[in-house]
Amino acid sequence: MIPNWLLQRAYLTPHKIALSFGDEKWTFVQLKDRALTLARKLSANDLNEGDRIALLGPSNAEMVFVIHACMLAGLEIVMLNSRLTEKEIAWQLDDSGASAVLVFDGLENNVAQSNVQTLLFSKVKESAEEPIELQEQWESDRTLTIMYTSGTTGFPKGVRQTVGNHVSSALSSVLNLGLAEDDVWLCAMPLFHISGFSILARSVLYGMEVRLYEKFDAIQAAKEIQTGTVTRMSVVALTLDKILRELEKKDAVAHLSFKTMLAGGGPVPVDYLDRAQNRKIPVLQTYGMTETSSQTATLAASDAIRKIGSAGKPLFFNQIKIKDANNAGDKGEVLIRGPHVTPGYIGRFIELDPLEDGWLPTGDIGYFDEEGYLYIVDRRADLIISGGENIYPAEIENVLAAHPGILEVGVCGQEHAEWGSVPIAFIVASGSLEVDELTAFCEERLARYKVPKVFRFVDQLPRNASNKLLRRELKEWTGLK
Ligand code: AMP
Ligand code: MG
Ligand code: MG
Repeated sequence: MIPNWLLQRAYLTPHKIALSFGDEKWTFVQLKDRALTLARKLSANDLNEGDRIALLGPSNAEMVFVIHACMLAGLEIVMLNSRLTEKEIAWQLDDSGASAVLVFDGLENNVAQSNVQTLLFSKVKESAEEPIELQEQWESDRTLTIMYTSGTTGFPKGVRQTVGNHVSSALSSVLNLGLAEDDVWLCAMPLFHISGFSILARSVLYGMEVRLYEKFDAIQAAKEIQTGTVTRMSVVALTLDKILRELEKKDAVAHLSFKTMLAGGGPVPVDYLDRAQNRKIPVLQTYGMTETSSQTATLAASDAIRKIGSAGKPLFFNQIKIKDANNAGDKGEVLIRGPHVTPGYIGRFIELDPLEDGWLPTGDIGYFDEEGYLYIVDRRADLIISGGENIYPAEIENVLAAHPGILEVGVCGQEHAEWGSVPIAFIVASGSLEVDELTAFCEERLARYKVPKVFRFVDQLPRNASNKLLRRELKEWTGLK
């Protein structure tokens, strides 16, 4: 059994700051009061313990209250991505078996295509309160959240994340990162992704303040990092780069108290890591996913330079192995085991066992070095096989990201009559760039067959709500003009 997160936290450190958003702040006891009131209103709307509720809204303070309200009320929360189309939302809602979807005002139209009962947030807030029975303790296999992940099957899978998954993830993380009394975690990731939600979980478990942004804001984030009003932050490669650009403009460095820039979701180009070092930002590369409720492996700050490019070692409770690998350096699919791994899916995939022989196959290719450090090479599905040679898009992106004229780059394979497939690069440039120059730049740094055969200049790259590059969509672009 695990103590009810917010009840326990509000009891232990009632007056510590739990959340700040814009100019407002809430202590843990204030957060509890807000959440409890909402939980009683949800109950008045006939949402009762064990029911499933879907949430659709922005990542703001009210959303944090709602999320905690649902947990207090004993509801399973389906986290809907607010950037999905009406059709995609309807599909997930119907698949989820949710009793209702709570929609923030202004987003009603996004759920119009679904048959699931809609509760408008403003209406819920006007409801009367109905008493609820609070559970002091939670079963560790209770499902807290469900997040849809777009699998290779073409259908999104609703991944269950239990109390035990989230708790072991948060504990593993803190055993690695440590915790200080005055830690403040800047959350500029959507709360409906595990990157954002896991920060909320850490906040109540550690008694730590979350500084929440509704949207990523590079200027504001750089300022807070520089002045030390936040001590930790989660980023992906793109948002790290944007913060670095802000600091570089002002020739500024991070405040001494800024301890952790947790960078995950995809590979971080080595050039960004070098630049971060110049800005005194300790970047900790991490490898995680929805199915593992956040981090599985993370590179300790002390190894950041010596093991540049590595995702580190598995966190304390977790195990990682490479399928069919016998020696250090052998590449293969990354397999994961541990208390943070999902027990399974809901809806269409409810019967699908996420594990093979007790291990979660990730679809990612990686290897361990001689000292047991994990390197993620790329997603298996993104591998380009060109004339029998394996090419990993991340390696090419890594090289091009260091080019001063390139703001963003994404590489994927394009079908080719002679070679089967060839690498092609999509580039967001800061000014005008010559293809010949880019080709020469790559030829100096990459084997001939890895040099992109085509460079396409675009205004932006396809990204998800966490700003993670979507190579699958990029591939679709190869067929377009
Ligand atoms: P998601 O499926 O949205 O939960 O994202 C998880 C996926 O992001 C992983 O399976 C990897 O493909 C990718 N990913 C996460 N962290 C890293 C990393 N440090 N390096 C490379 N790829 C990563
Ligand atoms: Mg009721
Ligand atoms: Mg995935």
